[in-house]
Amino acid sequence: MKNVATLDKIFALSKRRGFVYPAAEIYGGLNGVYDFGPMGVALKDKIKAMWTRDMRTSGKDIVFMDGSILGQEKVWEASGHTANFSDPMVDCTNCKKRYRSDDDGFNIEKPCANCGKTAWTEERAFQLMFETQLGAVSGSSSVAYLRPETAQSIFINFKNVLSTSRVKVPFGIAQIGKAFRNEITPKQFLFRVREFEQMEMEFFCQPDTSKKDFTWWLEKRGNFYKKMGLDQSRVRFREHATNELAHYSSYCTDVEYEFPFGWKELEGIAHRSCYDLSQHIKHSGKELSVFDEAVKESYVPHVIECSVGVDRLFLTLLFDSYREDEVEGESRVYLAIKPSLAPVPAAFLPLMKKQTAAFKPTFEKIRDKFPEVVFDETGSIGKRYRRQDEIGPPLCFTYDYDSDNDLCVTVRNRDTLKQERISIDKIEDYLLKTLAE
Ligand code: ATP
Repeated sequence: MKNVATLDKIFALSKRRGFVYPAAEIYGGLNGVYDFGPMGVALKDKIKAMWTRDMRTSGKDIVFMDGSILGQEKVWEASGHTANFSDPMVDCTNCKKRYRSDDDGFNIEKPCANCGKTAWTEERAFQLMFETQLGAVSGSSSVAYLRPETAQSIFINFKNVLSTSRVKVPFGIAQIGKAFRNEITPKQFLFRVREFEQMEMEFFCQPDTSKKDFTWWLEKRGNFYKKMGLDQSRVRFREHATNELAHYSSYCTDVEYEFPFGWKELEGIAHRSCYDLSQHIKHSGKELSVFDEAVKESYVPHVIECSVGVDRLFLTLLFDSYREDEVEGESRVYLAIKPSLAPVPAAFLPLMKKQTAAFKPTFEKIRDKFPEVVFDETGSIGKRYRRQDEIGPPLCFTYDYDSDNDLCVTVRNRDTLKQERISIDKIEDYLLKTLAE
C-alpha cells in the first residue's frame, strides 16, 4: 500500500487530536521531550497492555518488575555505560551547531548544513547518560544517573526475583518504564527523544540453549508485530554486523520498520551472553550464578534481551495506520488501527443535541464495560465523523430521527464506511465482536 503519511502530517494530527504535545509548549518547548495527551495515553496504554499480555502468554515463565529510575553510579560503571555509552560528536566552531558524526547524512568533508562554513572541532565522545546529584551535598559520593535503559534494574535484581518468585532458569523478567538519553540530535518526532519509555524483557537461560532461545524469541517478536497488524512489507529483521555490536552483545538482530525517513530500528533483540551478570558479580562481589538442578551444574545464566521503545512503536503505529481517502468529494484522514488497539473503541453520537438525554444512558452502560468509549455531541455529524476518524475508533454509533421509535442506532464502520442499523441492545455484542477481530 502506498504510504501517504509524512512526519509533518503525523506531527500535526498528533497535536490536533490530543495524542502528543511538545513538552512545556507555552514556554517554547523542550527539545526532544514530549507530553502525551488523553488520546496519547489511551494509545500508549493499549500498546503496553498488548506487549504485557504477549509476554505473559508467551509460553515461557515471564515475571514483571518495576525498577527505580535513579541509578547508583556503581551500577553504570559495572554495566559499562559510564565508559562506553556515548555517541561521537562534532561542533561547528562558527555557528556552534552540534552534530552526531555517525548520523546518516553527516559528512565531515562537507560544510556545516546550518551556516555553510567548514570549521569542525575534533570528534569527541558525548556521554548520553544524564547525571544528577542526590541530596543537598554535591560530590562524587552523591552522583546518580537517570537510567538510559531499564535492563540494568533487571540484572541487579536477578537474585531478588529468583529467590522470591516461583521461577527458575529458564525464565524472563520484563519491565516497562522510563529511560533517559541525552541524545545529541533528537529528531523525527518521537523516533529519537531524550525521555522515553522502554518495554524490555531479559530472558535468563542456560549457556548451551541460549542460541536456540535467541532464535525462538526472534520468531515470537516477529509474530507480535503481525498481531499488531503492522504492514508486513514494512517490517524486516536485520542482523548486526560484528563491527556494529554493542559492547555487551555477542549477536543482535534488529526488527526494523520502513518509516518515510528510511528503514530504522524498532526493536533490538540481543544475545547479551553472561556479560551483565558477570559484570555485576565482579563489581558488587555478590554471587549471581545459579545451581541448575536439571543439569546438576552451576553457571552464570546467559541472557536474551528483547527491547522496544513505547514511543517509537507508538509513532510506528501512527505511520502504519494513517490513511487518506475521499468521501463525497471531501478528503478524509483516518487511522486504520487494529480495533483492539484503537485508543477509543467506539464513539457515541447523537444526531442532534436534544437526543443526548435519550442516548446517554446507553453510552454509560457500555462505558462500564469499555471505559474508553467517548460521547461526542458537538458540531455537525460530518465534522464529528471526521474528528473520530482521525482518532481511530473502529465504530461510531449514531442515535438518529428513528431511534426513539425503532430502538435502533446506525453503526458506521471506520474503514469501509459501511453503515447498518442495529438494535440498541445489540451494541455491546457488536462492539465485542469488532474488538475481537
Ligand atoms: P538507536 O540506534 O536508534 O539509537 P539503540 O540501538 O541505541 O537505538 P537500544 O539501546 O537497543 O537502542 O534501545 C532499545 C530500544 O529503545 C530501541 O530499539 C528503541 O525502540 C528505543 N529507543 C532507544 N533510544 C531511543 C530514543 N532516543 N528515543 C526513542 N526510543 C528509543
